[in-house]
Amino acid sequence: MKISETQIQRIRSILGEDPLTGFPLKNLTSYRVGGPADVVAFPRNLESLTRLLLFAMQEDVRYFILGSGTNVLFHDDGFRGLIISPLRMKALSIEKGASSTSLIKAQSGTPLSLVVSRACRSGLTGMESLWGIPGSIGGSVACNAGAGGVSVGDLITELELVNADGRTTSLAKGSFSYGYRFLNLPLESIVFQASFELSSADPNEIQKKLENFKCLRRSTQPQGFPNAGCVFKNPSPDNQAGALIEKLGFKATKCGGAEVSSVHANFIVNKNKAKAQDILNLIETITKAAEKRVGISLELEIRIIKPSENYV
Ligand SMILES: Cc1cc2nc3c(=O)[nH]c(=O)nc-3n(C[C@H](O)[C@H](O)[C@H](O)COP(=O)(O)OP(=O)(O)OC[C@H]3O[C@@H](n4cnc5c(N)ncnc54)[C@H](O)[C@@H]3O)c2cc1C
Repeated sequence: MKISETQIQRIRSILGEDPLTGFPLKNLTSYRVGGPADVVAFPRNLESLTRLLLFAMQEDVRYFILGSGTNVLFHDDGFRGLIISPLRMKALSIEKGASSTSLIKAQSGTPLSLVVSRACRSGLTGMESLWGIPGSIGGSVACNAGAGGVSVGDLITELELVNADGRTTSLAKGSFSYGYRFLNLPLESIVFQASFELSSADPNEIQKKLENFKCLRRSTQPQGFPNAGCVFKNPSPDNQAGALIEKLGFKATKCGGAEVSSVHANFIVNKNKAKAQDILNLIETITKAAEKRVGISLELEIRIIKPSENYV
């Protein structure tokens, strides 16, 4: 259902400013593809986030929570409904904890990269391998982003959530499960803030680790073209999706402006004004070939967002 002018007025009064209307999603995603979203709202605090969610529930408005857009693919037709982006909620604090630990609290819009660099500069260890993962804290929690054997879920001590009905709750470590690129958030809940516990360590050791992870990332991932990181999950730790796609012969395969990276075959890059459909076509071709030729059902790591509920 189209969002009416009256509903846009209500969103305006919740935000205290105009939401964006008909805004191209390619401007909000790292793939730089995606058509217009009906309405995009950037709540600045917990109260307006909560009121927006309540509004969407009461008015039966379809919505999607978008962080930095580095793990999503929107269609060329865009999104019918309301995009809620917590990117303006980015308070970050570090508190000394028991013995040699500290607690980092970051609101959902805080860039993960900022949290990693603040932790390292404060002599706190544990996050070095997450250096270079783009995206917001909210997105990194929802996707359980990780690298180098550490995932965000390993480090969380507490999550503050807002439920679809506007209630806030907190979840302590142990009351949510997580695994390879998933974290079991209660249905339709939104991450408002995450707390991470890290230990103090020798700053020189932290710097050394950080440099190693920086080198590794720069030498193994494509640079210079828009992308959304790994497209598929690894079928298993010893069967990497990138190696499999390379073995199937898809490195450097093109469709329109999209190309399977010649550096890392699990990346599809937007080489030259790609359409979302070009990327979707490559995904389909690879998925079918993996199934048919080696009997492996590749699972997506990126999230493909349909333009509307009844889109097939
Ligand atoms: C160059 C590149 C390298 C990458 N390398 C890695 C890597 O090494 N490891 C890795 O794990 N990922 C990697 N990624 C993928 C991506 O950066 C991470 O998954 C990131 O954590 C996604 O965060 P985001 O804010 O961009 O989320 P988005 O893409 O905006 O959203 C992703 C999902 O999270 C949900 N979401 C977003 N915010 C919230 C919230 N506040 N509450 C609830 N749900 C929310 C969205 O609804 C969506 O379903 C890479 C991506 C790129 C472009």
